[in-house]
Amino acid sequence: MIIVSVTGPTMQDASRQIRESRRWADIFELRLDLIRGLELVPLLRSTAKPRIATARPIWEGGEYAGDEESRLAILDDCVSRGVEFVDLELKAGREVVERMRKKSRTVRLIVSHHESGVPRPAAEAFRMFAGCGGDIVKWAYPAQDSPDLRFAYDFLRLARRSSQKAIAVATGEAGEASRVLHRVFGGWGTYAAAETGPGAAPGQLPASSMVKTYRVNALNSRTRVFGLLGNPVAQSNGIFLHNASFRRQRANAVYVRFLTSDLERFMKDVLPLTGGCSVTIPFKEKVASLVRGRDREVRATGAANTLYRRGNSLRAANGDAAAALDALEGKGRVKGKVMLIIGAGGAARAIAYEALQRRAQVFVANRTEERAAALAREFGIQAIPFSGIGEVHYDILVNATPVGMFPGVDETPVPRLAHRPGTLVFDAVSNPRMTRLLKEAKEAGARVVSGEEMFVRQAARQQELFLGTKGNLGLLRTTMRRFH
Ligand code: NAP
Repeated sequence: MIIVSVTGPTMQDASRQIRESRRWADIFELRLDLIRGLELVPLLRSTAKPRIATARPIWEGGEYAGDEESRLAILDDCVSRGVEFVDLELKAGREVVERMRKKSRTVRLIVSHHESGVPRPAAEAFRMFAGCGGDIVKWAYPAQDSPDLRFAYDFLRLARRSSQKAIAVATGEAGEASRVLHRVFGGWGTYAAAETGPGAAPGQLPASSMVKTYRVNALNSRTRVFGLLGNPVAQSNGIFLHNASFRRQRANAVYVRFLTSDLERFMKDVLPLTGGCSVTIPFKEKVASLVRGRDREVRATGAANTLYRRGNSLRAANGDAAAALDALEGKGRVKGKVMLIIGAGGAARAIAYEALQRRAQVFVANRTEERAAALAREFGIQAIPFSGIGEVHYDILVNATPVGMFPGVDETPVPRLAHRPGTLVFDAVSNPRMTRLLKEAKEAGARVVSGEEMFVRQAARQQELFLGTKGNLGLLRTTMRRFH
């Protein structure tokens, strides 16, 4: 059940929000405390969908500044005019709930509590609502880190056991998944932002994205949950790629973002609720050291980009290396070729490892030259000075640094004049698709491969590991193109 918050701040904005979100909303929450120059009758009439009347007082984090009697009088008025739901704050007390009940036998009452600080344990939070008289109870709290999602899960589990309809919202970017997964966790509804205008709470996603990207109303307790574990995660196109692919395969699965600081806590509290995760910066190496079941590439490179399950065990895989080399070999075999890799981080290690497996002759150059030297020693390859990149012979040049990545799109790790015709140039950067490095190499007559191709290939591999079915490369490529 998607509840779209109508926040104004003018009556005109409120009507527009209702019009624009009609396709996606199951219910509209009318935030009477946020709409200036409120005209109740036209507002209530502006939708045929069920409405929740909310006049959140300042003492509960809202903006209603009048006295309690006048606030309740507005809500009374809404009930008399047939509003389907009223939101009442737990702190307002049981008498207020009883007052509304007396007013109407049909109105349904949401009793809500909004935490402002560190969330209390879910069991304690659920106990607060005992005997509150609400048809639905709602608990909202700020998530500082994605492991805090666990509170929402536990709260809704307790509610289910007591046959209590409930909503649990972890606000903020780290709590985003609680909004998407409400049906998976057994919640009654989820709040979304209108297409235009401010959301009612931090982290609210537009209702269209809840439907189009995540299909939230199609999810249920059997839905398999996957996600992106990292920090930051907002820049990733993974939610679009994986969810589009799940939809095409008619898989009952969803892919969300887990903005995480505390990896160990995430692995203890949230990972068990999932079928696996993609792993990105800064956790690729740490994850590899924490998981016992490690695939060959993880053991060899010390980094993982995927956590997945086989039977009861958790495993770590790294599809980056094969994805990069498969992308390159789409343009020509690497066997016997001289490959110069710029960078000595996770991506460079993975690419060097796989290139050696495929019998390329590998050189490495890195800004911090000791790192290049260490990598070279470990893999038995040669490091060259960073300043010498433009002077050495190579057949294949690989950029495995973030240089040229959005927003630094005017940068390149290699001077324009260093490019030569007939070489193959690969940029691990996937945003933008054509980096400055690739544009200049192409102008000089080189063939080029974008990091986007690596990205879709590693996503396809993850789909295989997550669902056990083959990822559709064509679909992933077209989905990716829509975002560049
Ligand atoms: P990482 O482990 O943090 O390593 C970053 C590397 O880039 C280091 O060698 C670092 O050199 C170098 N570097 C950073 N800033 C630089 C600068 N301004 N000038 C020169 N060198 C610089 O990161 P990673 O995981 O290897 O990722 C590297 C790139 O690959 C990123 O752009 C990432 O998005 C991309 N990638 C793409 C895919 C894909 O699917 N397309 C997958 C994985 C990674 P120092 O040692 O001197 O710091």
